[in-house]
Amino acid sequence: MSFTANRLLLFGATGDLAQRMLLPSLCALHADKLVAEDLQIIGTARQDFDDAGFRNFARAALEKFLPADRRGSMGTFLNRLHYQPLDANDLAGFTALSAKVGPIDDGLAIFLSTAPSLFEATIAGLSAGGLTGDKVRIGLEKPLGTDFQSSCEINDAVARAFPEDRTFRIDHYLGKETVQNLLALRFANILFEPLWNAAHIDHVQITVAETVGLEGRVGFYDGAGALRDMVQNHMLQLLALVAMEPPANYNATAIRDEKVKVLRALRLIDPSETVTGQYRAGAIIGQPVPGYDEELGKPSDTETFVAIKAHLDNWRWKGVPFYLRTGKRMPQRKTEIVVQFRHVPHSIFAGKGARSVPNRLVIGIQPEENITLSLMAKVPGLDRDGIRLREVPLDIAMADAFAGPNKRIAYERLLLDLIEGDQTLFVRRDEVEAQWDWIDGIRASWTEHDLKPKPYAAGTWGPSASIALTERDGVHWHE
Ligand code: NAP
Repeated sequence: MSFTANRLLLFGATGDLAQRMLLPSLCALHADKLVAEDLQIIGTARQDFDDAGFRNFARAALEKFLPADRRGSMGTFLNRLHYQPLDANDLAGFTALSAKVGPIDDGLAIFLSTAPSLFEATIAGLSAGGLTGDKVRIGLEKPLGTDFQSSCEINDAVARAFPEDRTFRIDHYLGKETVQNLLALRFANILFEPLWNAAHIDHVQITVAETVGLEGRVGFYDGAGALRDMVQNHMLQLLALVAMEPPANYNATAIRDEKVKVLRALRLIDPSETVTGQYRAGAIIGQPVPGYDEELGKPSDTETFVAIKAHLDNWRWKGVPFYLRTGKRMPQRKTEIVVQFRHVPHSIFAGKGARSVPNRLVIGIQPEENITLSLMAKVPGLDRDGIRLREVPLDIAMADAFAGPNKRIAYERLLLDLIEGDQTLFVRRDEVEAQWDWIDGIRASWTEHDLKPKPYAAGTWGPSASIALTERDGVHWHE
């Protein structure tokens, strides 16, 4: 049922995500008058605030995390905020929460920004408190489980109260402009789609590199590792958007139908096609940093780096490797997709001594949003000694091309879509399950072969085996 919620109930309202992303995003939406005047936001967590206390808390978060030029309407935004203390494990407490939320006939959007271990109790409480029904939808933060089985358990618990069309699974990468732009690039231009296949594309690289280490996520990260923290969700979503068939329409069903087909076509990986690593002490931008085991305070077999040569067993991508790589304590922070085209079938310039390099499309997602297509061009001259060709970039820096509109936080888009009920940029259950299915296969093969992460120095691009993974195919990582 389509409705725009006029109540937003935020679980985990005092948490890190709420402070850094959710409250700033909501304030920005308010400032730009993108949410209805009557939208009320009710925060909840165990911390004992009243409305005024929570507003002060939110003000401090906004002053810290929202750029000064976007804080203009902060005062009126704070008036929208309310707060009800609640331990999500306390079923009886949901009655008071329900009273605080008030009537939900005009629509309620709930966002669970809490550990998934609380989801089951929260859903039971929402049901007991009358905070479910046709006019209620729910948004869920990752991680949705740690494997296929646990993700099914979470999804089953949610499904007891919320049908799929009112369940919004967040992968915040889908809220990023450049990620959505991938669809525009592929399907709003005639140039790329005829070439977007194994006949013309040699390989694809997807890199998500972080310079940070554990960052206080000790308890969570050591139980997860790079494969589950990054590849299972964000990187597979990027891969699906790169590889999917053209959907017939821009809508939730059409797009998600195409993505899930890609995810189901992922071939089970042979362990020789993966490399795992764990950072040791090193230096990031000249600053010494400790190793993972030192940050953790104990030895661990958790991977902080993973590189994978993935394959899609379908007609379009037969024989095209998708090299995925993600790690912590890399030399630079960047998320990018590289589409490497093949050589021209015959170079008319070879006889003139010219060397030509195949075209490459680089889609930068983080920290800068830009799209670069490298083309061959002739170096100007009279060519007495032969023709020289050189790669020249055709650059679209999104910030320059679209100067003016505010650069939005991914969560602004996702929260607005949750409030208004558009599921296009949310992950459907079958996608999550296909993702876990593939990841579980990789983890099982690591266990079977007793694969342990190889050490790499902080500030490098991972273990040397990661370089060998591509070099043996004659491919270099794009750095
Ligand atoms: P966090 O800082 O630990 O916050 C957790 C929130 O849950 C707090 O508001 C906490 O408040 C509340 N909470 C804990 N136990 C509770 C209980 N029994 N009943 C009710 N509320 C309870 O975590 P976070 O970093 O904000 O992350 C929230 C979720 O988003 C997690 O699942 C995380 O994995 C995911 N996530 C976070 C990020 C990020 O950048 N932070 C990114 C992606 C996904 P009280 O202690 O006052 O109850």
